[in-house]
Amino acid sequence: MNDATHRFSTRAIRAGQDFDPTTGSVIPPVYFTTTFVQDGIGGFRNGYEYARGGNPTRTALETLLASLEGGDRAFSFASGLAAEDTLLRAILTPGAHVLMGNDVYGGTHRLVSRVFVPWGASLSTVDMSNLDAVRAAIRPDATKVVWVETPSNPLMKITDIAAVVAIAHEVGAIVVVDNTFATPYLQQPLDLGADVVVHSTTKYLGGHSDVLGGALILRDATEVGGQSLVEKVEFLQFGVGAVSGPMDAWLTIRGIKTLAVRMDRHSANASTIAERLVGHPKLTAVYYPGLPDHPGHDLAAAQMSAFGGMISVQLADGPTARRFAESTRLFQLAESLGGVESLVCYPSEMTHASVRGTELEIPDSVVRLSVGIEDVGDLIDDLVTALDAL
Ligand SMILES: *Cc1c(COP(=O)(O)O)cnc(C)c1O
Repeated sequence: MNDATHRFSTRAIRAGQDFDPTTGSVIPPVYFTTTFVQDGIGGFRNGYEYARGGNPTRTALETLLASLEGGDRAFSFASGLAAEDTLLRAILTPGAHVLMGNDVYGGTHRLVSRVFVPWGASLSTVDMSNLDAVRAAIRPDATKVVWVETPSNPLMKITDIAAVVAIAHEVGAIVVVDNTFATPYLQQPLDLGADVVVHSTTKYLGGHSDVLGGALILRDATEVGGQSLVEKVEFLQFGVGAVSGPMDAWLTIRGIKTLAVRMDRHSANASTIAERLVGHPKLTAVYYPGLPDHPGHDLAAAQMSAFGGMISVQLADGPTARRFAESTRLFQLAESLGGVESLVCYPSEMTHASVRGTELEIPDSVVRLSVGIEDVGDLIDDLVTALDAL
């Protein structure tokens, strides 16, 4: 079932999830197989030949992701970075220029600067929320990719996706939106004109901090150098092979079934917490796009259906921020985000350690919260107790 007339929460549970025709099993089985019997040489059943090229559990996840993002095709990978790597291989050639936000995920910046730049690509970063700066940073002859992350990590800046698309398309650049923080439930980048959506499904889509994965969602019509981008990515998924295994695909599918209800609770909890933290004497700033004085608030309200579960806060200085990050109890100190459990992270030495000394460096006074779906009163007690004790 991949009926575009059904609404989001229905498709999250049913798209790509037809019951098993042999047994009637409501949950499609996990296909633990690497190869498929051929009815005579080349007689493939439903196109399946060898699991690097395709596995029915992976197909189910890809069908589901394409439906939720409103794309024509989705491709699932072993991690978010594996998905990004495959996409960039499909687009970049020596001399190509990549323009990315100056606060993108550190691993994305590292992938381009340490893998693709040595192969002859070039990279520059810009405040993607400043459209004049974006216009000035585009190189009409060279820019092939404009990479947008909104809300950004960890300072929660909001970029106007449709406006960046208009600027990038003037020079024929592909606009990639990393939709990991917002998820398709809160934000639909392809609808806003983006060409490709990237996910670390490790985060909200999986949603339970138990499975690594990544995905690309594309439109059939997108071309690169006169060739179909879908065909290039499909070839590289098979030809390079960074695919997701059947168990990983199945766990991600199971997570996605509850995406809508989880995102509602993540957003509600984070809004309540952000409002409660504003004005706390130990905090010098609260970064949450749902707060009316956040510089991207109006844009986020127009572009997203709610404000998500990520909050960052700023404290007086690095040592105080460090102590706060180490003193909460329900908010566990760990990398990653988007799971049902709340996590706290000290970006300058954890998630963003790889960009220290670059233009992406994060102030050491910032602490990031991934707000889970626990009882919001308990979460507030935990944060306020830790702050008051500083
Ligand atoms: C985690 C993350 C990635 C990388 O994904 P992995 O699954 O860890 O490889 C990319 N973008 C964003 C926004 C992320 O949070």
